Amino acid sequence: MSKRIVVVGGGITGLAAANRIKEIADERHPGLEVLLIEASERTGGPIRTIERDGFLIEEGPDAFITTKPWGLNLCRRLGLDGELIETDDKKRRTYILRGNGLVEIPEGFVMLAPSRLTPFLTSPLFSWPGKLRMLLDLVIPRGRGGDESVAGFVRRRLGKEALDRVAQPMIGGIYTGDAERLSLRATMPQYIELEEEHGSVIAGMLRSYRQKSRARKRDSGARYSMFVSFKKGMSTLTDRLASGLGESLRLGEKVSGVTESGGGYTVSTDKGVYDADGVVITTPAFAAAKLVENIDPETASLLAGIEYASSAVAVLAYKLSDIKRPIDAFGFVVPATERKRLIACSFSSEKFPGRAPGGYTVLRAFTGGTLDPGVLELDDETIVEKLKSELAPVLGITGEPVFGLLKRYPSSLPQYNVGHLDLVRKISSGVKKLKGLEIAGSAMGGVGIPDCINSGESAAEKVVETVYGPGR
Ligand SMILES: Cc1cc2nc3c(=O)[nH]c(=O)nc-3n(C[C@H](O)[C@H](O)[C@H](O)COP(=O)(O)OP(=O)(O)OC[C@H]3O[C@@H](n4cnc5c(N)ncnc54)[C@H](O)[C@@H]3O)c2cc1C
Repeated sequence: MSKRIVVVGGGITGLAAANRIKEIADERHPGLEVLLIEASERTGGPIRTIERDGFLIEEGPDAFITTKPWGLNLCRRLGLDGELIETDDKKRRTYILRGNGLVEIPEGFVMLAPSRLTPFLTSPLFSWPGKLRMLLDLVIPRGRGGDESVAGFVRRRLGKEALDRVAQPMIGGIYTGDAERLSLRATMPQYIELEEEHGSVIAGMLRSYRQKSRARKRDSGARYSMFVSFKKGMSTLTDRLASGLGESLRLGEKVSGVTESGGGYTVSTDKGVYDADGVVITTPAFAAAKLVENIDPETASLLAGIEYASSAVAVLAYKLSDIKRPIDAFGFVVPATERKRLIACSFSSEKFPGRAPGGYTVLRAFTGGTLDPGVLELDDETIVEKLKSELAPVLGITGEPVFGLLKRYPSSLPQYNVGHLDLVRKISSGVKKLKGLEIAGSAMGGVGIPDCINSGESAAEKVVETVYGPGR
């Protein structure tokens, strides 16, 4: 039976959704057609690799996590596993900026708390009163539950120093968000589980470290490093997905609305109108809100309530001889207490091989986010100059970059603020009433690339099931 599903938005979520629909069509529904409509002239959203003067540059994401299976699974199905590259474990360390110096995050310290005591106790990152306050976590009673901000939780369990010196800059680096407003349950629920199960984050982390070390000794099978990329960069994945879609991909066509019609939907764009048996919307939430406002104003207003942060990345290529400080790490993050415009710096060519020609290195400096939206009002040159001037004393940079470029990401990262999970639950139950329509993407089930893939694939499967009936 011939059916058509329209996917709106060609970021990684939309590409993964369209690919899954094609897979299902090939497996069991030869009459199933997919059409992916993307407003811009390219797919991938922030995922974009460019080549310049022998450098391989990631303008946006530079890796994806392997502890969540959906990224690797998709790569295997696309035959891309041979293209994957791993991080160099010898350089797997991150620094925190303090003054103009970099202090290493102690080995075994994971986001909020230590999983090993000796490196933590001997680390110069925390003061002795700060360390003792963190250890009070071992005896502090459990909290009252509920949705708590990351900052509230860390202050309560581990103290202000733990928040200011590690938790805030780490979470700030990932979400470009405000730890006072981000929900712990929506961003890092594992810490709530540790508190609930062990009565202490640190006790739970120590135990889980011991269990993992024993498991690693037993199982010596090959596994990937925690983060992976592709030899030719992150666009390998999105380009492969896009080319697999062939004629089913419409670029440069903006969807203006989705309406119900005859048991299915009509998708209107600036170039035409399409009948669809099912629709997967994968645009940012504020854009999805506009698309569904005619069919479900309530869900539309919930979607519009999800806040987004804007950021910018300066890519700076230097001669290695112009950088006096060793950069044998993945990068560093900057606490808000340092009052800099720089929020993080990734040492791209140290993290993965093949990113810079011999004798050169490429750094990526991040700025903006919810704590500093004003920086994006500045022009490109001013932002790049500011970031260069903040980086220079930290890394001992004595020369000018061989080139620099700035990439802006307006309203690109959804903020999982306190109340976010509730909002997503309400959106999902609203969407459930719209048979054959799903909303997926980074606002719904995780901002990381594997989460987006999972969100897109699950939405695709649900829509196919509604269109053909369960079990078909
Ligand atoms: C600077 C930066 C660095 C990041 N680094 C990492 C990283 O290293 N690792 C990681 O795992 N994650 C990273 N992330 C997060 C991850 O990249 C994103 O969460 C993910 O790419 C979002 O994908 P998406 O498909 O949900 O949304 P998007 O990529 O935003 O795709 C949505 C698409 O919808 C299109 N669209 C919007 N409106 C319409 C319309 N009306 N009609 C048709 N199309 C429309 C847009 O043009 C866009 O292409 C990073 C994000 C940013 C911004």
